Amino acid sequence: MDETFRCLKGGRHALWLLDRKGYAGELRCTECGRTVTCRKCGGRPRWHFEAANGDCQSCGEINAWPEVCPSCRSRLLEIRNPGLESTCRRAQELFGSNATVSLLPEYAKLGKRARNSIFARGGESVSIFIGTRALISLCRTLDVGLVGWLDADIESWKPDFGAKAEGYRIVWSSCWIGNNADTRKIVIQSRKPKTGWQIALEAGFSYFWTRELSERRNLGLPPTCFLLEISLKGEFLPKIKSALEGEGFEVLSGPPGNESLQVKVNGFEKIRRVLAPFFAVNFNRQEYPRLSLDFE
Ligand SMILES: [Zn+2]
Ligand SMILES: [Zn+2]
Repeated sequence: MDETFRCLKGGRHALWLLDRKGYAGELRCTECGRTVTCRKCGGRPRWHFEAANGDCQSCGEINAWPEVCPSCRSRLLEIRNPGLESTCRRAQELFGSNATVSLLPEYAKLGKRARNSIFARGGESVSIFIGTRALISLCRTLDVGLVGWLDADIESWKPDFGAKAEGYRIVWSSCWIGNNADTRKIVIQSRKPKTGWQIALEAGFSYFWTRELSERRNLGLPPTCFLLEISLKGEFLPKIKSALEGEGFEVLSGPPGNESLQVKVNGFEKIRRVLAPFFAVNFNRQEYPRLSLDFE
């Protein structure tokens, strides 16, 4: 908060970045401690305050915002993991009189004209821009004096072996990208400050990669092998999985709801043999599996 105030006072823009859309990532009962889950699949909805509902991140079901805890009927529900909508509200309360507060959760999808009008507005008054990490590119056009990573615990960004490298790369780039970067402040909020990949922000790029590569070597992850992702809608994915496991492949499940799985592969001859029947012309289904290869 102090850094934001200082930045605005100096006549520069501030970015608040958070990769969590909606109002809150979790609703929890303060009486019984249970988290409100999707009524259809038990997954976790992302809650929206104005629409008074939550869309399930696993199955897409729209759940009504509950008046009482579904387990114990208590009325005391609290918000955990605040999202962009509640963050924007907070920014309005704190800084609304000193600056323009702009909520841009879909910045990456905006067209050129919409972006230009943002740049023009940014030329008129100091602003706090609130959105996902796609907003970093604003640094190329506007004078950004502060980048605040509101929740830098990237494990929650996506469940993927590459998440750490991606998180590190993007936070690192926020230190250097665009105009007047050498006087820009970077603030990182984390539940585990100065641990893991964050140490490398001060120690540097090669420090990070030396450690990351040795960790990946120990876990047998790329670049020491290939990671093959197989996606297919419908009932055949589990069959592919058991065929692969039957041949001794290590199969990891892909992101939830994505209908994909990942396999560690060293050579291609064996996996070609296992997958061949699923590509047969007379094989009974609508579509072929899609394969993509990750070796970074
Ligand atoms: Zn309860
Ligand atoms: Zn669901």
